[in-house]
Amino acid sequence: MEIQKVIPSGFCKGVVNAINIARKTRKDNPGRDIYVLGMLVHNDHVTRELEKDGIITLDDSVKTKSELLDDIDEGIVIFTAHGISDEIKKKAMDKGLECVDATCTDVLKTQNIIREHIDEGYDVLYFGKNNHPEAQAILAISDRIHLLTSEKDIESLDLDNPKLFLTNQTTMSFLQLKDLIERVRKKYPDVIVQEEICNATSARQMAIHELTDCDLLYVVGDRKSNNSNMLVETALKHGIKKALLIQSYTDIDDDDLAGVNKVCVSAGASTPPGLIDEVMNYLSAKTSEQ
Ligand code: SF4
Repeated sequence: MEIQKVIPSGFCKGVVNAINIARKTRKDNPGRDIYVLGMLVHNDHVTRELEKDGIITLDDSVKTKSELLDDIDEGIVIFTAHGISDEIKKKAMDKGLECVDATCTDVLKTQNIIREHIDEGYDVLYFGKNNHPEAQAILAISDRIHLLTSEKDIESLDLDNPKLFLTNQTTMSFLQLKDLIERVRKKYPDVIVQEEICNATSARQMAIHELTDCDLLYVVGDRKSNNSNMLVETALKHGIKKALLIQSYTDIDDDDLAGVNKVCVSAGASTPPGLIDEVMNYLSAKTSEQ
């Protein structure tokens, strides 16, 4: 069985930067309470490593970010790589918390582009994932931002503003985005489009798009990681017969390897290199058993 690691895969600059910011905050503030408002990056392994350093992740699927803030009264709060709304930032500052912002610069760029278009009178169509923190922070900018999660949402749009601007969450699938742009243009031919998939996301998707003879692709990543899920989608759309999201090598079912000539391994932008190496080592060991 041939094993190919897809390059690039794994950590992106935004994730590395966010982790470095959290670690520096810990180093500069020994003994102080440090919280992350949500998962710093979408990977459980990273969250557990931060906890070992005494950096506590506040994450509860039934609580809003505002409610999570209610649970803390002092210390330092770190905003995640996905971005934060002005309203939550203000609430944290009003509570007297010291704020550290680990928002990725690519996310900030998209936020700024959207703000500019809102200020210029546009309605913004935003292709993103419902309840994803990046989308939540964007939607909080204005009620003239309309979330599109699929083509169905285009049908239900009823906008009479002639100034329309279409953009997207940084980690969406470039194939889905292309399709969505075409559909929006059919309904609103004058829409202005700016694609905002970040370089890290598009490079990882393109690398999968260029794979040949791959029978099985493992994407190492967290279930919450949108860019990891999009790598699986990209693979299936590209015609790879089987593409599976795994959190670590322990999720590999050996039955899936039966009859496979070439297995490829990719990983989302929030997946630590050690987890990818473990998967590669596991598959190499399986090959030598064959
Ligand atoms: S995936 Fe893209 S937007 Fe998200 S943290 Fe990485 S570089 Fe930034």
